[in-house]
Amino acid sequence: MIFAHDTEAALVSAAALVNTGGRDEEGLPNLIALDQFFRAYGWTGRREHDEAELRSVRALRPRLRRIWEVGEDEVVEIVNALLRESNALPQLVSHDGWPYHLHATPPDAPLATRMAVEAAMAFVDVVRTGELRRLRVCEYPNCGNVVVDLSKNRSKRFCEAGCGNRAAVSAYRARRAAAQS
Ligand SMILES: [Zn+2]
Ligand SMILES: [Zn+2]
Repeated sequence: MIFAHDTEAALVSAAALVNTGGRDEEGLPNLIALDQFFRAYGWTGRREHDEAELRSVRALRPRLRRIWEVGEDEVVEIVNALLRESNALPQLVSHDGWPYHLHATPPDAPLATRMAVEAAMAFVDVVRTGELRRLRVCEYPNCGNVVVDLSKNRSKRFCEAGCGNRAAVSAYRARRAAAQS
């Protein structure tokens, strides 16, 4: 493990959230999709189940995406702003069978606020450990999805949307074409 378990889970969840706003189709088209995302990434706590909640979660994505795109000083500005705006107050908590981990918002804070702060707290760890290079953009042409590289040897190059397979297939085809010519 590179980071603490809650940090890694938060990074994976933040990347997945950013990637629902990818360039092809809206990954959070409605509240059902938001419910699925909420469950898939182990979120708990208060929900509104309304359009305003969905809009605020979607609106968080471009802000988080910037963290993958900018240099350290600007990452720090974004992270500090997210923590400040939400009056983040780190507390160790244990709930729903999870071991002790950090929450910096109360469980009844709006979902988008909790998502923003949990991501921000995880980025705090990434910056403090000098591991920002683990936040990358997928190398597959025109993909644009963000990637969190939690591998020991920093070898993850493609996103979770199948780009690794696509790249392997194109490399295989290219080799075969080269062998036949
Ligand atoms: Zn928790
Ligand atoms: Zn990709």
